[in-house]
Amino acid sequence: MRAVVYRGVNDLRLEIVPVPRIGVNELLVKVAVCGVCPTDIKKIQHGLVPPPRIFGHETAGTIVKIGASGYKTQNSKFKIQNLKVGDRVALHHHVPCLDCHSCRHRAFAQCETYKRTGITAGFEPAGGGYAEFVRVMPFVLPGVVKIPAKNSFAEGAMLEPVNTVLKAVRRLNLLPGDAVLVAGQGPIGLMFTRILQLQGIRVLATDLLESRLKLAKKFGAKWTVRAGSARCADRTPQRGVPTNLDAAIIAVPSDDAVSEALQLVRGAGQVLLFAHTKRTAKSKVQSPKSKLPQRTVFSLDLASICLDEKDLIGSYSSDFTLQTEVARLVFSRRLDVRQLITHTFPLEQTAAAVTLAVRPTKDSLKILVRSDT
Ligand SMILES: [Zn+2]
Ligand SMILES: [Zn+2]
Repeated sequence: MRAVVYRGVNDLRLEIVPVPRIGVNELLVKVAVCGVCPTDIKKIQHGLVPPPRIFGHETAGTIVKIGASGYKTQNSKFKIQNLKVGDRVALHHHVPCLDCHSCRHRAFAQCETYKRTGITAGFEPAGGGYAEFVRVMPFVLPGVVKIPAKNSFAEGAMLEPVNTVLKAVRRLNLLPGDAVLVAGQGPIGLMFTRILQLQGIRVLATDLLESRLKLAKKFGAKWTVRAGSARCADRTPQRGVPTNLDAAIIAVPSDDAVSEALQLVRGAGQVLLFAHTKRTAKSKVQSPKSKLPQRTVFSLDLASICLDEKDLIGSYSSDFTLQTEVARLVFSRRLDVRQLITHTFPLEQTAAAVTLAVRPTKDSLKILVRSDT
């Protein structure tokens, strides 16, 4: 079969690899589409994991083979749908054990079982969605969701990113009528805007791109402001934009946005980091010739945490227990993800899809790769 293999930093190659073999309780899924996700891009761009691997974890496709039966009796604590050959499904590459110390604290993304990747198209399991077929291992079967006939594979592929967004929203203590800043209106920021609006939250959306601010309005933002101009110091009150926010979600990897948000939220408000997924290099001293980005030191007045009781929190990855709610939200189109998908590339152009995702244009949002063309 054809697959796009990661062979090193920024090196993705279309290769012919064997169709994965499946064992007892496993599925073979013919991939239809797979989303291009920033967490994979980061690994490809910075070589964070050793090659070779086949990435792609926002996968939807059709079950073409089921390994020797018995899967229904596995993982009895999970409700597994009755799956059969021909079912159109959305896959989830991480599923927590629900038993360990982390899981009991609902910190699913920190669970050791969760960190294992249960979907592969070959090599070290890495999602495998940029290939024609994937093997789905038994421990992630509880994450398989059937796609209703009226919905597309593309909608199915969006369940994973939507889940990460809903999980983050659940980390906030919000009441209907609250005012929340969503910094960054890329596909993830727009999902935040819509999900918050559905919960009766008034959203202040910011972005550098005018086209994205227009879309933010469509997705339910009450106010839109060009990024940077929301700074409290130099802002003249405009159109009733609140100066005292209940929370802020930082959906861009910008340290300035965090400083600004910490000033904009009220006492006991929350600032949630969603896009700060790249760790700072260990060494503090960098030669001026270093190709690594120069790190600035983030300064934080700790009295804003202690005295003002502001919370600085993070959220990473998904919450498996929200999957049913996420499926309802997407498949009912209350959150219409179709409007977020602007580009679909054939499998052989995966590298171009990644390049576009790295440098979005004014009309690019979510990008998918199609394997079934
Ligand atoms: Zn993702
Ligand atoms: Zn666990």
